Amino acid sequence: MGTENPGRPSFPATPFAAAPPTMTPFSNSGSVVGSEASNLRPMRPTVPPNTSPPMTAGPAGSGESPAFRPAPPTRYNDPSLPTPPSSYGPPAAGTFNRFPTPPFGSMPPGPPARAPVVGQPPFQPPPSQVSPPLSFRPQGQIPGVPMGSPPPGVNTPQIDSSFPASRPNFQPSFPPTVSGYPAAGASSQLPLPGYVKQSNAPFQAPQGPPVQSPFQAPPVGYAPSAPTPSPQFLSQQGGLAQAPPVASPYGLHSRDQIQHSSTMPPMGAMQGLIEDFSSLSIGSVPGSIDPGVDSKSLPRPLEGDVEPNSLPEGYSLNCNPRYLRLTTNAIPNSQSLVSRWHLPLGAVVCPLAQAPQGEEVSVLNFVSSGIIRCRRCRTYVNPFVTFTDSGRKWRCNICALLNDVPGDYFAHLDATGRRVDLDQRPELTKGSVEFVAPTEYMVRPPMPPLYFFLIDVSISAVRSGMIEVVAKTIKSCLDDLPGFPRTQIGFITYDSTVHFYNMKSSLTQPQMMVVSDLDDIFIPLPDDLLVNLSESRTVVEAFLDSLPTMFQDNLNMESAFGPALKAAFMVMSQLGGKLLIFQNTMPSLGVGRLKLRGDDPRAYGTDKEYSLRVPEDPFYKQMAADFTKYQIGVNVYAFSDKYSDLASIGTLAKYTGGQLYYYPSFQAANHSEKLSHELTRDLTRETAWEAVMRIRCGKGIRFTSYHGNFMLRSTDLVALPAVDCDKAYAMQLSLEETLLTNQTVYFQVALLYTASCGERRIRVHTAAAPVVSDLGEMYRQADTGAIVSMLSRLAIEKTMSSKLEDVRSNVHLRIVKALREYRNLYAVQHRLGGRLIYPESLKFLPLYGLALCKSTPLRGGYSDVPLDERCAAGFTMMALPVKKLLKLLYPSLVQLDDYLLKPSASADEFRKVMKRLPLTADSLDSRGLYVYDDGLQIVLWFGRMLSPDIAMNLLGPDAAAELSRVTLMERETEMSRRLMGLLKKLRESDPSYHQLCHLVRQGEQPREGFMVLTKLVEDQTGGTNGYVDWLIQLHRQVQQNA
Ligand SMILES: [Zn+2]
Repeated sequence: MGTENPGRPSFPATPFAAAPPTMTPFSNSGSVVGSEASNLRPMRPTVPPNTSPPMTAGPAGSGESPAFRPAPPTRYNDPSLPTPPSSYGPPAAGTFNRFPTPPFGSMPPGPPARAPVVGQPPFQPPPSQVSPPLSFRPQGQIPGVPMGSPPPGVNTPQIDSSFPASRPNFQPSFPPTVSGYPAAGASSQLPLPGYVKQSNAPFQAPQGPPVQSPFQAPPVGYAPSAPTPSPQFLSQQGGLAQAPPVASPYGLHSRDQIQHSSTMPPMGAMQGLIEDFSSLSIGSVPGSIDPGVDSKSLPRPLEGDVEPNSLPEGYSLNCNPRYLRLTTNAIPNSQSLVSRWHLPLGAVVCPLAQAPQGEEVSVLNFVSSGIIRCRRCRTYVNPFVTFTDSGRKWRCNICALLNDVPGDYFAHLDATGRRVDLDQRPELTKGSVEFVAPTEYMVRPPMPPLYFFLIDVSISAVRSGMIEVVAKTIKSCLDDLPGFPRTQIGFITYDSTVHFYNMKSSLTQPQMMVVSDLDDIFIPLPDDLLVNLSESRTVVEAFLDSLPTMFQDNLNMESAFGPALKAAFMVMSQLGGKLLIFQNTMPSLGVGRLKLRGDDPRAYGTDKEYSLRVPEDPFYKQMAADFTKYQIGVNVYAFSDKYSDLASIGTLAKYTGGQLYYYPSFQAANHSEKLSHELTRDLTRETAWEAVMRIRCGKGIRFTSYHGNFMLRSTDLVALPAVDCDKAYAMQLSLEETLLTNQTVYFQVALLYTASCGERRIRVHTAAAPVVSDLGEMYRQADTGAIVSMLSRLAIEKTMSSKLEDVRSNVHLRIVKALREYRNLYAVQHRLGGRLIYPESLKFLPLYGLALCKSTPLRGGYSDVPLDERCAAGFTMMALPVKKLLKLLYPSLVQLDDYLLKPSASADEFRKVMKRLPLTADSLDSRGLYVYDDGLQIVLWFGRMLSPDIAMNLLGPDAAAELSRVTLMERETEMSRRLMGLLKKLRESDPSYHQLCHLVRQGEQPREGFMVLTKLVEDQTGGTNGYVDWLIQLHRQVQQNA
């Protein structure tokens, strides 16, 4: 143990004297530590350091998850105490099970308000009860979520061969002759012999099958029926504002359905293609003159994500789809139907999504009556519950239990059975509300917002300029950090040693303390490493002002990241909060040091391939488990220009509900704007602290697997130490019974969290969906966005245990099986022979499936994507909400030159004329200027023959330079101002990431190749399928054994 700084060379610039040797914390020798451990250890909080009791009312002791913190955080090296539990994880195992979180159904009866626990002694198991570390099982390993296996008889040789797993010889270089542009007169599509040019007939909605509603819509005003409602009950119920969901699962889309449901193949252009397929399938179209296909008429999601709105009638009480989307809005009533669905069955949830304009979520405070919940299943009162017995009872829509209405919540029912106070009851009329949680929902005072920073100050971090950008950005955000005046803040820096900063408010300058004993890391000061921002504001600012210069001469190349991480954990674990890690050098010292295992081309295509993408050292997963348990969410900012094993380090973000930001080869000159913007958003966006989320669903169905960045506490409780509007989660459903008898199922998402203001709240989203017995209906009500989100998450998880090639084959096969099943429904009956048919609702699924196979986590092999980039993209995609994910998979491509040349065009006007183009090189005219935007970056593509006038206006004298060296900036020309205004609008449309703008000129290789050409997902590039080939393959396989 040392207090000096032996590992560091000269340290002249530091304004904070390293702690004098006489300082008490530093005088400890190793042998003394044990006896003084109590002084050094973080204080045991007076209130149990427990996190939020999961969404439960009722006594803490019998609640779902009483104080689950087994012991105060302690030093790892303290021999008198057991190792802190590090297991935390998926169902059935882990320390959390020691502090049981029984299902809500097991809650004791009784309204929540009657069981106050304020002052109740916390549940603190003695150390002996703390379980030793158990084997950690990541969420991704939950069994039972097959991507689908090939059915007998399915032959997939074409698919397999179309994605060579590893192409060591493939170089991402694209000689100008490879991809032709219209101006060059060549087509980038390989000619498809036998294709006949087809008409450009507009895409017509196919006709639907005759629809026979199996039941009549009940009269308006009737409530969704509980499983066995009696007529008397129905006649008395109230509380519904409008036609209930059960009213007509079929009738409600009578209009749409007839127009869009596709018992017939899509007509028009697609039909032309279908006929082409048909002719292909018989083998020959000799003498065909035009071998091309009018690929422009294929279905493309040029409008981006379209939220499902096909269920307005009767389901208008549902929460907005941006909070909850089902993969199909028709729930199958039997196992046999489920088995014929083939696509994922489940939901994608974004609990804190930004509310649509004017539809902000109401915050309700039930002071007198307490929050009304079903006493059996703990469902929160919602628009779908029904009131009966003159308003004295209410029936739970999820479990059908008849509950008493508390006296304070009573209201009479009017003649139609509705509560007379319905207009004043948002919880009974809106799909999304937020309840202020009373003290029963807390076992400790709500935590303050807490931001802790762990900053790499080794030589590569210094040289990249990252430290300065980070320090400046944090300082600029101090006024906007949520939670004033309770906000807490603290810092640790590290190279070969770990540096702590005393930020006590009485100081004028922070005091730096260096710990160099990495095997025995300890906190040199029990207090004042984490301080109240308001009180210590001047010290914090002084620190941030001097941070960039403090280390400017640091030559230290090492990284004691693991020990620094443990130190941060010790400091934060009393309160929880958000840990932001700025990491530039591969961890090289102490626990958690990583080997330069790198990317191994020989592993690709073998059974060992996946191991490159999973962490080698369990340290990071275990740390993530500990962080989650103590309500710490981790965001990792990674900057290295070399391989830095993000597969390992990223798990810190993955399992704590955090986020990985990756800036490969960061240089402040190029990337500071992006880093500054994204860090600012991370620091200032509204954050829900110490949260847990649960999704309930009606009887007979069950959520069985969860997918995203988080850990599960108990079988169905998602632990989210810090969550915000940019995170979404997916979960799959299964049927528990062979046959569902109810006509409607309900879903309710509840997120219990601490708001930055210190209020404990529960955000509740409720939705209903009809139960159907018709497979065709399931397909008609399919939501491609939710399906693609789910497929992406499943595929990325599968890359952790399989070859990329197998993962892509699985995506393909799943689509084949779904389309084949659909075909079997109608093909014979309508004599559709060799046509490719699909439901209108899934018309973009094949293209998104192709885009997914070409996405960064799944694409190609060794030489196509650097391993760190692949892993980082996987972490990112696992968390993205539907809309952002779809944009990343199928980005927008828009031609700009016409707009820029228009005399008086404004950015607003551009929105109107902005027309997204198919993602193919055929869309690029060498006389044009195009913008490509995938939500993470923007690329401006300058055609080779673009008017020099435009180039001069935008780039000035740089117009002739190689564009890789040119930075776009606003110039004194109208055209430049207009372009910059436009880029601003594009960025503002999705502020979750800052898209850097890259410039590339046609033919400038290899930049054009990796920045644009490989991103054109409809083209055959680097041995991948093009859209047309992909459809042909799908169709061939659909037909096999059809
Ligand atoms: Zn219930």
